[in-house]
Amino acid sequence: MIDQTTRLRDVLGEKTAIMLADALGLETAGDLLAHLPRRYEERGELTDLANLTVGEVVTVQAQVVRAERRPMRERRRSMLTVTVTDGRHSLLVVFFNQVRQVRELRSGVTALFAGKVEEFRGRRQLTNPEVQLLDAEIADAQGRDGAEGFAGGLVPIYPSAMKIPSWTIASCVRMVLSDLIEIEEPLPAAIRSEHRLVGLLDAYRLVHQPSSWAEVTRGRARLKWDEALILQVALAQRRFDNEQTAATARHARPDGLLAAFDATVPFPLTAGQRAVGETIATEIARPFPMHRLLQGEVGSGKTVVALRAMLAAVDAGGQAVLLAPTETLATQHLRSLRDMLGPLGRAGELDAALCATRIALVTGSLGLRARREALAAVAEGSAGLVVGTHALLEESVTFRDLALVVVDEQHRFGVEQRDVLRSRSDRPPHLLVMTATPIPRTVAMTVFGDLEVSTLTELPAGRSPIATFVVPAANEVWTDRMWGRIRDEVAAGHQAYVVCPRIGDDATDADPDADPDADGATEGGRRPSAAVLDVLPALRDVELVGLRVAALHGRLHPDDKEQVMTRFAAGDIDVLVATTVIEVGVDVPNATVMVVADADRFGISQLHQLRGRVGRGSAPGWCLLYTDAEHGSPAWERLAAVAATSDGAQLARLDLAQRREGDVLGAAQSGGRRALRLLELLKDEDLILSARDEATALVGADPELSAHPALAAALAATLDETRVAYLEKG
Ligand code: ADP
Ligand code: MG
Repeated sequence: MIDQTTRLRDVLGEKTAIMLADALGLETAGDLLAHLPRRYEERGELTDLANLTVGEVVTVQAQVVRAERRPMRERRRSMLTVTVTDGRHSLLVVFFNQVRQVRELRSGVTALFAGKVEEFRGRRQLTNPEVQLLDAEIADAQGRDGAEGFAGGLVPIYPSAMKIPSWTIASCVRMVLSDLIEIEEPLPAAIRSEHRLVGLLDAYRLVHQPSSWAEVTRGRARLKWDEALILQVALAQRRFDNEQTAATARHARPDGLLAAFDATVPFPLTAGQRAVGETIATEIARPFPMHRLLQGEVGSGKTVVALRAMLAAVDAGGQAVLLAPTETLATQHLRSLRDMLGPLGRAGELDAALCATRIALVTGSLGLRARREALAAVAEGSAGLVVGTHALLEESVTFRDLALVVVDEQHRFGVEQRDVLRSRSDRPPHLLVMTATPIPRTVAMTVFGDLEVSTLTELPAGRSPIATFVVPAANEVWTDRMWGRIRDEVAAGHQAYVVCPRIGDDATDADPDADPDADGATEGGRRPSAAVLDVLPALRDVELVGLRVAALHGRLHPDDKEQVMTRFAAGDIDVLVATTVIEVGVDVPNATVMVVADADRFGISQLHQLRGRVGRGSAPGWCLLYTDAEHGSPAWERLAAVAATSDGAQLARLDLAQRREGDVLGAAQSGGRRALRLLELLKDEDLILSARDEATALVGADPELSAHPALAAALAATLDETRVAYLEKG
């Protein structure tokens, strides 16, 4: 009798075990069972041969049309050329010196062929692939087990390797399953019966040897639960650990900075801003660290929410940090905090309010003296509010009493970075992370599963709608009209952005301040995308002649950046030609039109984010997506989708669906064994929500899972290094 820890060597023999270990990393019976079919072929249903990619290892079901044997010049060598078909397309299969295939592969025979797709004289072909006959009678007549195990009608196709065709894996699985009598159940019995799930061993039988699609579904449903529960238990344990960690409770004061600020805000807070504010006030008054994600569209007013939380922290005697991903954004935040606070933020200056505090800026480009002064103010505590970049994470930065860390644009930071400040003090500060990239709920619950999520759903009143259009570069009339729109808006006293994927004029060309998602590269033989340094002079001389046009990008000297931003904010610049440095944080309500050059080089969420820069004032905004993508191409369709809706959440789902979850969740789960094999974050929302509830209850009642040893073991196995990296990617 074997169990899931049995070495494959003991079931399958040394030779096969070594192949499975080398090619696929499978060591034990459990590993092999967890190596699930990627898809299934229905017996007799031929694989579509039109979509084979050169270089890929494939398994295809096809029918032999013709087989020709040719002796070769060297004696005793022969070549067999077989043409196979899916009924519509054909594929060439070539064998050298394969006597058996000559006998078997006659016209009309259906078989599985596994091998690497090559290209030879413009045709795709397989050379010496592995072959498995599917016609039972022929196989039987020849005394071989051609169709054995596939009798049910569904042929499992496994992720395979050159040396091990899919059906060899299938027969190994068959041997393991026939010897395996019992298997440990990671899912607690109560959850299994509550959600009507089959046992694990049955689930494996169903997915590996199904006789119908219904069986595949039933088996997968159970295996998905294992995945979801294990993931959610890991996250629930992190939340639980967090609640066991001591933090200083920061209690609000009725007569402090926050009250004074609230009395001066020039607009009523939205209901969402107020509600989130209350949640935060409650959570930072608890004796364990707040861990909250605040998501909200660009312009939804997250900064005010953050500032109010920061003021509450200062009122409670602590300090608060606002961490921004770029210098541009940090400077912009400093300016807007100063504006919003007025005299409340000018402690030590003549016109300061009585309860005022000071704001310190800490960035990498500060001069030596400015830096020393800022760090001293932070260390001794006279600066209650600190705004900065990664420079704040350096060892040399110490706080008198850090109460709250706010991380803006979470997606640009790793969890390690956001944890640096938390680990430095003996009591971790409270944490608020903000993102304008809408994240579907289930993604938030898995990728950011250790955070509680708040969402600002409404935009402040008085916002104007943004009209978005896709402008085909090939159409001169439209192109002229696009630049005309900028000229018109400027003539009407407004301002404009022209966004380019690249800075230009440099080999590496990545903008250190820009979003890494922008695709400025030339790979794939595409022409280089539009660059700020090329577009700027062209616009100045031709399309926008006479307007005040300036460039903004991450390679400018910080002083120049600051100067450009200030002049643009003051209305002394009409058109800003920029990289995605303006994606976040730049807040100039007078800007009403944005042209995105080579818009197809940007992601969906990123475009949505970018256009949030216009329409921040009372005048309607325009976003023009300029592209040479073909009408009707996938790239065009993506842009059309952005133009068609202003619903960021819907676009985020689309983005996720298109980019594939692997990209969103990071590399950790894409290679080898993936953390999420069957779960699909968008489609399995209900399951993930139930699993989260079950996991929270389980961990709440039994944090160490001592009553569920099999679940604990499965969790430990899952939390190997890649998993930890994945969970912590945040
Ligand atoms: P984001 O969520 O993109 O960070 P901001 O916090 O920068 O948004 O807010 C965008 C603009 O809206 C700012 O100019 C801010 O002063 C303004 N704003 C924020 N809240 C409100 C509100 N409740 N009513 C009107 N304007 C608001
Ligand atoms: Mg913001």
